[in-house]
Amino acid sequence: MTDKVEEWLTSKKLNIIRDFRQQVRNLLDSVSAREKMSCFSCRSEATAICNYCFGSRVGGWLNKQDKILGVEFASYFKEEIASPKIAFA
Ligand SMILES: [Zn+2]
Repeated sequence: MTDKVEEWLTSKKLNIIRDFRQQVRNLLDSVSAREKMSCFSCRSEATAICNYCFGSRVGGWLNKQDKILGVEFASYFKEEIASPKIAFA
């Protein structure tokens, strides 16, 4: 899902991509320090972090950068975010 979000973000707001990558890296670092067999946040079955938690973290972060972008993110990735069992990483 990271690639899809990055692609989407590139078309929306290019100057935020660097920060986004850093944000994802931080997120993955915090994941790798924990259990890998279930989502480290909600504990659903996923390899590292589920789409739902990834979406809510990235969405929350985007909201802080740009409220409109956060809203657009939530609606554009609505289906992915709603499927907690699909792992993104
Ligand atoms: Zn989760």
